[in-house]
Amino acid sequence: MSFATLAGNERNKRVIQRLLQRGDGQIGRTLIFAGPAGVGKRQFALTMAKAANCLEVVPEQSPDSCDRCATCRRIDEGSYGDVIMIVPDGQSIRIAQTRAMNDEVFYLPREGRQRIFIIDEAERLREESANSLLKTLEEPPPTSTIILVTSRPDSLLPTIRSRAQRLNFTPLDLPALEAFLAAHYPRPREENALLARLSGGCIGAALAIDLSVYRQERRVLLELLELLADGHQRHRVMKAAEFVAKKERNEFEAAIEAINGLLRDLVIISAAAEGGSIVNIDLTDRLKDLALRLGPRRLILWFEKFSELRRQLRVNVNRQLAMEALLLSLQKQ
Ligand SMILES: [Zn+2]
Repeated sequence: MSFATLAGNERNKRVIQRLLQRGDGQIGRTLIFAGPAGVGKRQFALTMAKAANCLEVVPEQSPDSCDRCATCRRIDEGSYGDVIMIVPDGQSIRIAQTRAMNDEVFYLPREGRQRIFIIDEAERLREESANSLLKTLEEPPPTSTIILVTSRPDSLLPTIRSRAQRLNFTPLDLPALEAFLAAHYPRPREENALLARLSGGCIGAALAIDLSVYRQERRVLLELLELLADGHQRHRVMKAAEFVAKKERNEFEAAIEAINGLLRDLVIISAAAEGGSIVNIDLTDRLKDLALRLGPRRLILWFEKFSELRRQLRVNVNRQLAMEALLLSLQKQ
């Protein structure tokens, strides 16, 4: 995408475009793109790389990408020689990777005007890897720009932070994200509204959600909550606990987050807050009905107990036992 089509974070857009304009084709900076996962940091970095090297534009006059020329297309595909992505090798970014980058930064561009190095998940730089980069980050040559992308900027060494210009990225407000989704991904309005809410305003997160999978999952979980509300179905509740606990780690965590979202919506409805702030707006009527059956006192207790389970799960307790214990204790409330 070009800066013209990217939504949100307008101030960052202007800062980057000024850098592109001022550079006389040469930028030579170290930048930190900081903000929550899925907020668009990588997309901005790629658009900057395209705008700096696009064959159709002169950055000094029009600092944006055309998104059609061979260079823009190859950068999008990840096959352009002057845009170099550094991603964690396993759990961390290793010193062999940063040493290789230290050499590369000082080469002239092979085919374009500006070499762009994007260090993704920069918080995973090991200390020795980060230290090996300090001199390079301090003063890259004018033909190289280094972008450290991170959702945890405070985990970067202070010596790294002090050498870079930091841009903070924030989620879009919901109407803006809904409008963006409607413009680029035609689907029923209700689905875009749900995606915007599920993603918390983060475009990348919204695009990564498979709505049909989420809905199917959510249906099972909501039925479980309804069963619990009625009590007396111990056998079915245990089966449900087993079903959730046996999922793969990612799916299990997604299920826990989905239950959390449903409970949060129920608490909001029960507190008679305006319906606009709930996530699962396509289920408003059913959630209202369940909130009424549960009542505010019981709901808050459920929410607290569930939050406790989430904390326990972070320290690797036996999932199935923890799930069963939780569901049975909710059933008694
Ligand atoms: Zn182009």
